[in-house]
Amino acid sequence: MRLEDFPQDIQPHLIPQVGGDLIYRCLGCGAEFSVDELWYTCPACSGVFMIIDRSFDVLKKKDGWLWQKIFDYRKMLNLPAVKGIFRYQELVGPNIPLSDVVYLGEGHTPLVKANVPLETAVGAHFYYKNDGQNPSASFKDRGMAVALSFINHLVKKKGLSNLLSICASTGDTSASAALYSAYLAGVVKSSVLLPHGKVTPQQLAQPLGSGANVFEVPGVFDDCMKIVENLADNYHVALLNSKNAWRIKGQESYSYEIAQDFDYQVADKAVFVPIGNAGNITAVMSGFINFLELGIIDGLPKVVGVQSEHADPVYRYYLEPDDKKRKYLPVTVKPSVAQAAMIGNPVSMPRVIQVAEKYNDLAGRQRVFVVQTREQEIMDWMMRANRHGHIACTQGGESLAGLAAAVRDRVIDPAETAVLDATAHMLKFIGFQELYFQDSFPPEFQVKSKKELINQPRYIHPAGLAEVPQPGRPLTGDKFDEFVRQTAGEIAQRLGLKPKK
Ligand SMILES: *Cc1c(COP(=O)(O)O)cnc(C)c1O
Ligand SMILES: [Zn+2]
Repeated sequence: MRLEDFPQDIQPHLIPQVGGDLIYRCLGCGAEFSVDELWYTCPACSGVFMIIDRSFDVLKKKDGWLWQKIFDYRKMLNLPAVKGIFRYQELVGPNIPLSDVVYLGEGHTPLVKANVPLETAVGAHFYYKNDGQNPSASFKDRGMAVALSFINHLVKKKGLSNLLSICASTGDTSASAALYSAYLAGVVKSSVLLPHGKVTPQQLAQPLGSGANVFEVPGVFDDCMKIVENLADNYHVALLNSKNAWRIKGQESYSYEIAQDFDYQVADKAVFVPIGNAGNITAVMSGFINFLELGIIDGLPKVVGVQSEHADPVYRYYLEPDDKKRKYLPVTVKPSVAQAAMIGNPVSMPRVIQVAEKYNDLAGRQRVFVVQTREQEIMDWMMRANRHGHIACTQGGESLAGLAAAVRDRVIDPAETAVLDATAHMLKFIGFQELYFQDSFPPEFQVKSKKELINQPRYIHPAGLAEVPQPGRPLTGDKFDEFVRQTAGEIAQRLGLKPKK
């Protein structure tokens, strides 16, 4: 719809303007730094940053109802830069002009309601939000869109060139970083570090296809991360890991979309997120906090983090109910099918601790929970979800396994509707499905296949057939008719089909 066709009172608010007064604030010592420098960790105490808008209160001059109208009408605006997560520009990147926004089709991923059989199986009402339908097929594109839009802005503003972006990754961050950097080819060149043998072939193919420098390093993700930190400390590179606080800003859009898609009624929802480096759950919580503070929503949903028992430092931390006695300890990870969440020392742990406390305080009761699942449950629930019309990856399976655990532990009550993060597309992690179908998981995964969930192709070659078609050697005439007749007959028999007569 054209701008002049919108209601007159909404027109002045529709096109986002440059504003905000953003700074990096260290969660360790409270020091503040200009966002116009590429800082990732505090030079004083090595703490992680959050991006704070010191003029956030200016946004409160519009009441919550007006913000709702603005976001709803913006849906109809045919302006590429606000088609994605910059619909919420005042929140995700108010200092970034629309002309610098990198939009590759991210965000506004569908909410898909689970059907009755699947809801019955798990014992709760729920939706999947399919973040695997982002351009690089994972939610990481939300944060990357903002991080690269900001870099694009900074490059223009400061006249920089040949910026090198770098990240360590369990696979999806590098795919996303490489994709968004490739869009800025000539200005930004990306390099990614992956733990050798610990990412899927698809995740390795993605940054290669985007033209990134790809380095495979021995060890696990936590080891790659240390190398990247060393590079960021000692050389001029733009770090694209979730230490980069811009990524958190972008991922907050996940919560904004959920709120908008439920007509801003989220107090009766429970949002389930698998936790790896803990950037996503940080963003999900802080997104809802922002909407609450602006009066756009009138209550906070439950947020439920999910961890596998093979990589569960956040779960262990919250096992202690007394927040004064809690002690954070990194864990040594074991092999996990939720490979993208297989992290023993989450970079964003200090963020989680602080933001979860604020979340619970604002709600006046506990609204943030962490549940634990087993590898077996993650696989079984992923397989079941996908047999009921979903496209969940192993981490999406972890979200559903987490919902089952939450039902069991009464973390969620029957009146609540769950929204599960399907964080990536199933095709990225298809090797785990294959292991399940072959019942050939290495013992350390502790996964055994359930017979009823196994599926295999069946080769049909009727015994009575002398010849079958082959590439470059088609059958013709009677031989072909016979091939069609016998093959169809055998398939009909296997399916138990009744002839029409
Ligand atoms: C990165 C990732 C996660 C974990 O998110 P964090 O922000 O690291 O906690 C989960 N699932 C998928 C598919 C991912 O790529
Ligand atoms: Zn500090």
